[in-house]
Amino acid sequence: MRLLSQNERTVLATLLALVCGVGVAGARRAGYLGGLKTAPPVVVTSAPVREISDTLRTSETVSQLFARRGVNDVDWAALARGVRNFNPHRLRSGLVFVFRQRHGEPSPHTVAVRVSHDARLWMTRADGGWSASVERIPWRVEPLTVEGTIRTTLYDAMDEAVGEETLPREARSQLVWGLSEVYDWVVDFSRDMQEGDRFRVVAERLVSSEGEVRYGRILAARIDASNRHLYAFRFDHGERTEFYDEQGRSMKRELLRAPLEFKRIGSGFSMRRFHPILRHYRPHLGIDFGAAYGAPVRSVGAGMVTHAARMGGYGNLVEVQHNARTTSRYAHLSRFASGVRVGARVTQGETIGYVGASGLATSPHLHYELRINGRAVNPRRQFNTGSGEPVPAVRRAAFEQEKVRLLELLEPETALSHTAT
Ligand SMILES: [Zn+2]
Repeated sequence: MRLLSQNERTVLATLLALVCGVGVAGARRAGYLGGLKTAPPVVVTSAPVREISDTLRTSETVSQLFARRGVNDVDWAALARGVRNFNPHRLRSGLVFVFRQRHGEPSPHTVAVRVSHDARLWMTRADGGWSASVERIPWRVEPLTVEGTIRTTLYDAMDEAVGEETLPREARSQLVWGLSEVYDWVVDFSRDMQEGDRFRVVAERLVSSEGEVRYGRILAARIDASNRHLYAFRFDHGERTEFYDEQGRSMKRELLRAPLEFKRIGSGFSMRRFHPILRHYRPHLGIDFGAAYGAPVRSVGAGMVTHAARMGGYGNLVEVQHNARTTSRYAHLSRFASGVRVGARVTQGETIGYVGASGLATSPHLHYELRINGRAVNPRRQFNTGSGEPVPAVRRAAFEQEKVRLLELLEPETALSHTAT
């Protein structure tokens, strides 16, 4: 080992004094050394580190943010090369960067940013510039069974059924939307469910190593509405994952139950009773959906556009032909989606226009009609018609097995009777 020169020794001693002095001063402020008359034993600790959080603003580059915090020496291109899938130009605004800076140093030496649910990017200053690494944040998955009864809205029922510590508010709303998507072809959550109806859902609850909670996939569900038990079981039939009822028939149908996604209806929608608050022209042959101006309207089924223009009291109207007998109409639109013109093909769920108040409408809403052989029918009457494709025969045994597993989570109280049969 090389002996330190006189000069280096002086520097080291000064540094130690600086470091310890700072340490003691910090401790004194914190009250640990109150009343001590003599100096404490010398303990070499690292200097206190300050953490400052700063947020990447809209239309700001990451280097502008770093410059604001006194960091101007990052070679972003070199840094990006060192980390897989990291593009400093693609960081979204709103990301919170934590800058760590040692007392007495002019600028931060470490920066951390949570770039996704399961990754944190660490940047560290070393001799040759900045280097970066990714910390993986593990999530634990546990099944969560939620059961609720509707009194006013589905959101309120969910809030009543699950506490904030089990699932945060945002996750609860997403669970409601997820549930409405599972039943998209079978239940219109804005019309078919009423006060007293019940739901049960088994979803994955994800908990990170840092204590955050969110909801993962829905695994199974049951809706009790209109004196029916509507089951849904998630199952991978070999090509993709779908939801099947208890008899192994797909939840998917030729037509969706509603032309608006449930999350577009708004959380204020009450299921207590149906208010026909929207004024419409007579005779009224369809269903009116209240929604915000500009909310996307989707085609309930695949088909061909047979009308996309103004038509009297309908205002801007899109008509889609689904098969030889069935057409659907969407009226009062504020505008049409691009590419929606007569002769165009649309897929199920595709956005065909946007909610408006054109034609004879006093407020923004969607007037929806289902027509069979040219005559408007009540779409709600289609509630019981048809059933989806069955699970492929080769996957049938696997489905039955998975159904039993999911039923034990969905209905633990009856699990014994399920396994006994
Ligand atoms: Zn109407």
